[in-house]
Amino acid sequence: MAKPDFEIPELKLDTEVPEVKEGTMAHSSPFIAKPEHQEPLNFPGELVDDWHDRAINKMGDLLGKYRSFQVYLDACVKCGACTDKCHYFLGTADPKNMPVGRQDLLRKVYRRYFTFAGKYFPWLVGAEDLTRETLDDWYSYYHQCSQCRRCSVFCPYGIDTAEISMAAREILDDIGMGQKYCNEIIAKVFKIGNNLGLPEPALADTLEGLEEDVLDDDGVEVKYPLDQKGADILLVTPSADFFAEPHVDGLIGYGKVFHEAGLSWTLSSHASEAANFGMFIGSYENMRNVSMRIREAALDLGVKRIVFGECGHAWRVAYSFLNTLAGPFDFLDPKYPVPQHILEVTHDLIQRDAIKLDPSANDDMILTFHDSCNVARATRMGPNPGGQFTIPREVIKASVNNFVDMAPETIHDSTFCCGGGGGLLTDDLMELRVKGAVPRMDALKRVIEEDGVTHMAAICAICKSQFTKVLPYYGMGMDMIVSVHQLVSNAIVLGAKQ
Ligand code: SF4
Ligand code: SF4
Repeated sequence: MAKPDFEIPELKLDTEVPEVKEGTMAHSSPFIAKPEHQEPLNFPGELVDDWHDRAINKMGDLLGKYRSFQVYLDACVKCGACTDKCHYFLGTADPKNMPVGRQDLLRKVYRRYFTFAGKYFPWLVGAEDLTRETLDDWYSYYHQCSQCRRCSVFCPYGIDTAEISMAAREILDDIGMGQKYCNEIIAKVFKIGNNLGLPEPALADTLEGLEEDVLDDDGVEVKYPLDQKGADILLVTPSADFFAEPHVDGLIGYGKVFHEAGLSWTLSSHASEAANFGMFIGSYENMRNVSMRIREAALDLGVKRIVFGECGHAWRVAYSFLNTLAGPFDFLDPKYPVPQHILEVTHDLIQRDAIKLDPSANDDMILTFHDSCNVARATRMGPNPGGQFTIPREVIKASVNNFVDMAPETIHDSTFCCGGGGGLLTDDLMELRVKGAVPRMDALKRVIEEDGVTHMAAICAICKSQFTKVLPYYGMGMDMIVSVHQLVSNAIVLGAKQ
């Protein structure tokens, strides 16, 4: 780990609300997209000359298109309930990282151009012209929001800063001021099929390697099929699952579950990516284009079901929008939900006693579980409310003997973001990522000290990558973070049900 050029916060067992320090993160700003990242997404290559008018027009479009956007800008009563709820404020003390402070960057411009009072008496209602300085503030601070929605849980009006931040990024893209990390990745998905730019032969090689590894380790021929026409299940999983630790251990686990349950499945080289960064930049057009690959792959391969692997925001896009974006999916088997989460599949098999797990295989670990924000606050799993909290825990508890939850105010729908969500998982935002992880690190430190926790499981590719990178900054091992299906993979008894 390179020596950071910023101060690493000291961990406490309970996160403390910091004294406000104006402008501490004003310098934090991700790399701006170049024309080659912008143009494949139909955005201007660079900042347009008439950015001011174009930004105001775009804001007007969005206000007409998304009713919630205007309601959120109008409804805030400045009650202050959200001020200490954002991990980025708790980790940086910058008041523009308070959810209401972040919203106000856009609200003051909205009031100036779209409300009667703001047009005629701007000084009375905090309305301000859109200036180049404000534009730079938008770019900086709307890329310090991971769109985790924690603040909306505590706002008495349910104001969702994530939606405001998506709208701000949509305006910025429209005037040619996009973020390199997100837009480059989306362009890669269009060109090659996945975020990492892994072409089909590399994918096939990787999967063959996994088959050999499982055969060596377990003595069983578990298949990891690619582009297999006529398979029942299409598995769409984040591309990190194909090679990075601990993600790949999760993919090994999915394959073992399918094998043991006798389910026929395949991955697709056309839809070799579950992630959909179109959501992070607030672009429904790009979100739809990315989603359509899944529909095309399902039709081409003739599958009956679509199952998503462990990825938080992919599950949010799938659960909340896939049918609208790329449906109808009336060609799939109506017996199964569209889409389905891999945890729902594994949980159902455990409940029906269709797979056997030996939790003692994980006795070298004491586990806790990090609820990923997109799963926790924007989706569900299974038929019952709260299934997104119970199903992962039930699968973990069936796979391990030692499990402890972190403090209640840091889990379930109060969970803290890992610090790298919402398109911020890039090295040019390392300071933000390390500081934004503070509340989760504090809660983890507590269960390490009080309960001897050794590992933390997660079901999101971004959380896993973020923790792998950030844990060492706090003196913890990067291998503390594990995939939930890695635990299943360790515990599953292959051949027990055949
Ligand atoms: S959505 Fe999450 S990151 Fe954004 S302001 Fe709210 S709490 Fe902070
Ligand atoms: S909790 Fe809601 S109403 Fe209160 S200040 Fe925050 S955004 Fe405004």
